[in-house]
Formats: sequence, C-alpha cells, structure tokens
Amino acid sequence: MDMETLVSLCKRRGFIFQSSEIYGGMSGCWDYGPIGVEMKRNIKDLWWKDVVQMHDNVVGMDGSIIMNPRIWEASGHVANFKDPMVDCKKCKRRFRADHLDDDCCPECGGELTDPRDFNLMFKTYVGAVEDDASVAYLRPETAQAIFAQFLTVQNVSRQRIPFGIAQMGKSFRNEVTPRNFIFRSREFEQMELEFFVEEGTDEEWNEYWVSRRIAWYHAMGIKPKRLRVRPHEKDELAHYAKSCVDIEYEFPFGWQELEGIANRSDFDLRQHQEFSGKKLVYRDELSQKEFIPWVIETSAGVDRILLTLLADAYAEEEVQGEKRVVLRFTPQVAPIKAAIFPLSKKPALQDLAQKVEKSLREHTTTFYDEIGSIGKRYRRQDEIGTPFCITIDFESLEDNAGTVRFRDSMRQERISLDNMVGYIAEQVKNATT
Ligand code: ATP
Repeated sequence: MDMETLVSLCKRRGFIFQSSEIYGGMSGCWDYGPIGVEMKRNIKDLWWKDVVQMHDNVVGMDGSIIMNPRIWEASGHVANFKDPMVDCKKCKRRFRADHLDDDCCPECGGELTDPRDFNLMFKTYVGAVEDDASVAYLRPETAQAIFAQFLTVQNVSRQRIPFGIAQMGKSFRNEVTPRNFIFRSREFEQMELEFFVEEGTDEEWNEYWVSRRIAWYHAMGIKPKRLRVRPHEKDELAHYAKSCVDIEYEFPFGWQELEGIANRSDFDLRQHQEFSGKKLVYRDELSQKEFIPWVIETSAGVDRILLTLLADAYAEEEVQGEKRVVLRFTPQVAPIKAAIFPLSKKPALQDLAQKVEKSLREHTTTFYDEIGSIGKRYRRQDEIGTPFCITIDFESLEDNAGTVRFRDSMRQERISLDNMVGYIAEQVKNATT
C-alpha cells in the first residue's frame, strides 16, 4: 500500500478531504468527512475511556486554546520552540535544515542560505488593537493549561498524589514542511495526560504509563510488529527531562512517532511558579507533606493514530477473480459497525430492514443501503471497514431472521432479528477483548 492509494480512498469514501479545496486548498490543514469524523470520535472515546474513566486517579479538563502569553514564556516555547530553517536562493522554497541530507535545494538543486530559527507558534492579536501588548498564541500543545490549573483541579477533585489530569483538543504548529497527509499538519488534535507524582516514584509510574499506552495500541488492533518503543538518546533529551520514549509505527514512509512519553521532572510546575509568582506546591492532606510534584507526560496525536489505523488495516485481496479492498479495523475503531441491506427494493423488505436499522441505531453506528447488488454493497462497506453487514431477504419475512456477513472471513450466519442488537454488541465486544 502506498500513501497515494490511501489518500485517494480517504477522499473517495469520506474519511478526509483537503481543507478549503474549492479555493485551491490550505497547506497543512485537513477536513474530516462523515466517515472520518466517526472514526476520530472512536479514537478519542477509547483514549478517554482507558486513560480517564478506567483510572480513579485521573480526571479530565478542557482548557482554552488562547491563553495568557506568559504561559508560553514560562513553558519555554517563546524562546525554544523553533526549527532551524534554510531557504533556497534560487526557487525561494523553505526547508527544515535537519530534514535535509544534502547541502543544496532538494527541489531545484539551488544554493541554500545558512540555517535560521523559525518559531512554530501561530501568533494572533487579542482585542481591537494590534500591538505588542495584544499578542497571543494559538496553543502548540494542550499540556500547559493543565500545569497552569494544576492546583485548582487538584483542589476541586480532592485528588491526592499520585494523580493525573487529562485533556484532548486542537493544537496548532506552523510546521515548515507539513507532509505525509495528516501525519504532519498545522492544525491537529492531541490527547495528553500529565500525571503528578512524588519524586522517587517517578520511574515506576513512567514504566506503568509506557506499558499501559502500548497495551492500548494493541487493543486498537494495530499489528504489534509495526509498533516499537524507542528511548531517546541522551542528546535528544530536553535538558529538564529525565527520560523520554517515543511510541513509533512503521508507516510506508518509515518509522515515525505516534506518541511521546516523558519524565519531565518538576520543571513545568517550577517554571509556572516562577513566572506567575503563585505557589504551585502540593500539600498532602493526610501526611501534611509539601512538595512540587514531578510529572510523567503521555502525549499522543489523534490524527497520527487515525492514519496509523488506516495504514495498518488496509488490505487488497482477490475474491472470485475480483479485487477486494478492505479495511480490517477492529470493530470498536470502525466508523460504521453494522450496515443493513434489504435484498431488493420490495416495500416489505425495506420496511423490515429499516426497522432492524432503527433498533440498532440506538446502540451503535449503522448504515442503510438498498442500491446495487448485494456484492457491490458488501464491497462498499469493506472499503470503509464495516465489520458486519445484515441482509434482510424474503425468508426474513417468514422466519424473522437476517443474514449477518462478516467482513474479514466473509462467513455468513443466520441470526434472529429479535436478538440482533445483542448479537452485534456481543460480536464487537468479543472481537475487542
Ligand atoms: P515531531 O518530532 O514529529 O515534530 P514532536 O516530538 O514535536 O513531533 P510532540 O511535541 O511530542 O511531537 O507532540 C506529541 C504528539 O503530538 C506527537 O507524538 C504527534 O502524535 C502529535 N503531533 C505533533 N506535531 C504534529 C503535527 N504537526 N501534526 C500532527 N500531529 C502532531
């Protein structure tokens, strides 16, 4: 599978479109279509369930995108969130110096300038006056709102250390070379957890979160042989980080990061304490101990995970002399869980099929299709990864049963319509565990 095939499938079937396409597009920005948006919601729901809902010591929050600009001074983004850039003197294109293998322009062979730093934060102005005092930034990560609200959230949730605060949402980076489809874009979504611990217990918690996150990727159905954990080399580590690992996936364009997990020491809270002048010291209500907590951070990209799931699930095979394209998503990830087809456009079959769909709709995502041969309808669902197709035929009017066809094995089974809701729910659950 090459990326072009995947991009074209995504557009054709309503996963992902180029943003502002009728105006020639907007580089580094993408729109999710009707199928893509369902899948994105699944990823976010599954992350939230595993990280927040399943942990009694993790709570959520939803911070604003535009924050006091001092936050980005404290975090180090104003001073350090930069890529070294070179410009081609001939074709005027700009490249990231650390992405080039050569001394000359990869596009036209022209001479390049010396590297210069380029800040990745999008700047804007807040209020009516556009001057230095009104400069603000679109957040380049969600984490900082968590640090800034750390004590407030701890107080209202009455959590004791160790505990975590999770957040997901849009982040913005003026990437110099957005590329590889949604892998590197300028507007994307992150899912981040900041887990606060006492110094000395940090390594243990770091290990816990690395294995928990890997297990999550496995549960999402991603092939373990295409996943790896890569510890950062000493020279890659930020000065304040005690350790950092990347969870990487083997894409068609090579091994690339999906998520970073870092032991950030007490750097972030210390910085915010210093810049805000407000104490960010945790006081344990039982032991009365006071300290600035250390932080284990897990930071994942929704869009990169979605791309991973697509690339990992894509398969082409030959069935009775014809090519079949199928996305072998694990059912919980699949945008549509069940498609319902009346065998033909006879009103009695349509009515019954619609009744079945309505009963399923309350519990899961469904799709009703009565156009074309059953074989064609199966193929359309295979291409968007629908795990179960239910056909209502003339016999259904007699025996009150339908034929469930399984996407991967193409096996068919006759199931009573009275049990259909429970049966599909059970299949989704079993496939997942
Ligand atoms: P990279 O080295 O690939 O630029 P990074 O190390 O800067 O990534 P982090 O700052 O650790 O990335 O961000 C955490 C996660 O956010 C990444 O693992 C990735 O999944 C996601 N992410 C970061 N930048 C982008 C982007 N431009 N487009 C899509 N997702 C991104």
